[in-house]
Amino acid sequence: MSDYLVDIPEQFYSDGDGKPFETCVVCGRNLMEDGTRYVIEKAMKNYEGYDFSATVFEYAMCLDCYQEMQKGMSEESMQNLQQYQMRLVQEKSADGVIAIDLSDFSLSDWLSKCFFKDKPVSEMKEYQLIGQFEGNHMIMNMPPMAIGEEVMEEMSELLSEQTKGEMDRFRRDFLGPSPEIEELIYGRKLIFL
Ligand SMILES: [Zn+2]
Repeated sequence: MSDYLVDIPEQFYSDGDGKPFETCVVCGRNLMEDGTRYVIEKAMKNYEGYDFSATVFEYAMCLDCYQEMQKGMSEESMQNLQQYQMRLVQEKSADGVIAIDLSDFSLSDWLSKCFFKDKPVSEMKEYQLIGQFEGNHMIMNMPPMAIGEEVMEEMSELLSEQTKGEMDRFRRDFLGPSPEIEELIYGRKLIFL
């Protein structure tokens, strides 16, 4: 099956300059080149009484670096995560397949609730957005997701201490700390899928 590509939606633009990400946060590779695959992850926060989400953390990472990072995850943690996600998907859909009707698809609706639990992100304190991209397009075969705080929390509990330590080290080395980020990272809430 060939990839179904769409323009990069603004939700996945870099907050830094309001444009699509251009380089891998780890190796600096140019992501805009055709055929270059990468992942974008954003951690969002809602402020009570305000009607918007602020980005507290964002990065784009090429697939090579992403896979390198995932090697820091123990086999056991990886399996735990996969089983957890599979269980949630099966709760949503008996055959374990979540279909997207592209004739009637609204990305902002899609990203307005947790992919796994359907709870609106507007009712949460924190959530994450994650998507896969190629050059200047988003890959819809692996649709972008919003992941709610409840699922982030539960996934974090499935990781071994060793895996959490490795993930923390990786983030510290490449993503650098800032007060807001510290809270998320060292609160160990960020999940890399
Ligand atoms: Zn890279």
